[in-house]
Amino acid sequence: MQQGEKLEFRCPKEIHNGYAKFVCLNEFCTNSRIFCFECIKKGDHNTHIKDQYEIDKLFQFFDSQKKKTEELIQKLQLIIVAITNQFSQLEQRLKIKCCFSTAEVSKFDTQRLNQALNQMIKYNDITKNILQDINQSSNALFDQINKYTNEFTLDETDKQNQAYLKIQQVNELFEQGQKLYEIEKYQEAIEYFDKALQINPNDCQSLHSASKCLTMIKNYKDAIIKADKILQIDQNNPQYLCIKAEILRCQQRYEEAILYSDKALSINSKHLFSINNKADCLKMLKKYEDAIFWADEALQIEQKNLFPLTVKSQSLKMIGQYNDAIIWANKVLFINEDDINSLITKIECLIKIGKYNDAFRCLNTALQLYPENLTLKQLNIQLLTIQNQNNQANQSLQQIEKNLIAPFFQLIKNKK
Ligand SMILES: [Zn+2]
Ligand SMILES: [Zn+2]
Repeated sequence: MQQGEKLEFRCPKEIHNGYAKFVCLNEFCTNSRIFCFECIKKGDHNTHIKDQYEIDKLFQFFDSQKKKTEELIQKLQLIIVAITNQFSQLEQRLKIKCCFSTAEVSKFDTQRLNQALNQMIKYNDITKNILQDINQSSNALFDQINKYTNEFTLDETDKQNQAYLKIQQVNELFEQGQKLYEIEKYQEAIEYFDKALQINPNDCQSLHSASKCLTMIKNYKDAIIKADKILQIDQNNPQYLCIKAEILRCQQRYEEAILYSDKALSINSKHLFSINNKADCLKMLKKYEDAIFWADEALQIEQKNLFPLTVKSQSLKMIGQYNDAIIWANKVLFINEDDINSLITKIECLIKIGKYNDAFRCLNTALQLYPENLTLKQLNIQLLTIQNQNNQANQSLQQIEKNLIAPFFQLIKNKK
């Protein structure tokens, strides 16, 4: 219902035919809160006329109630923040005054050691009561909050509302995280996914995206914890199996990664990410023919996917099919001319088949894009060495000509 719309409710008394036009906000009233003109005539709310309003005022009432409650929540939250801040101050001071590592102590001089010991003995007396005292106050605070919480007993409708509210909150947090993920702000995105998971620790979409973000920032340990958690909830979702495979691949645990990719592919044989993952793992395990097979499978699903194109060209290079490797590297470069891996593959293959001029041309383009790339620098040295050797070879060939062949011709000439 929108503000400004006419509020129309029937009078709850069935014998009254009219619409309820009034509302009673008296604290102690036991009659129906909304009522019709006939109810007034019957004198239902006669004892507290000043608390009666026209029903159109209802929106204002709900609005002001909402504002009051939100203000209250804000003030309560400030109390918690103040407690947390104070607590971290206490924590810091405890660490400064009472926590010394062996390394630190061994660097103390006599005076500093004396001072530290005096402090420790003095503070021992204080620290022994901290836990007990704070625990007591904390229990009292907890009881107080609990008492008020229980005042608001929830019926079935409220519980449904609460569940709905939770889902909505989780989805909103997930959407915000997802937006950050898409613009590669992984750390910030994780914060949103974690907030969603605080509300619902089993929210698979948040677990999945958090795991992907953690993989992107190379925090594989936490990424795998999240991935395992989703697989406990749903072990038959190719996407979830695939993220686990992906993390294992990043950790260079290729055999295990293939197991998870295979599981995903047993559920959906066309799951592109799992096929790509498997192809790359096989390449890393030096099973180049198998890698090419799976790269081809991926390319049947998506012809212009850079990942299998790259796996295929690199694998072809590794089994010595340099001309084919160049063809497939060119396919990548046709889609993305800056692709460093394919530039490197192409240069290496051109060198292998002795097309040094083409290799030089390609290398110069690559070095303009990535002047600091180590592999490119090494390839440059390699090419220059080859060129020098060739020049030297040419020179020596010329020398040979000069020393041997020329006198020979001279000899013939002289004989004539
Ligand atoms: Zn009535
Ligand atoms: Zn009343």
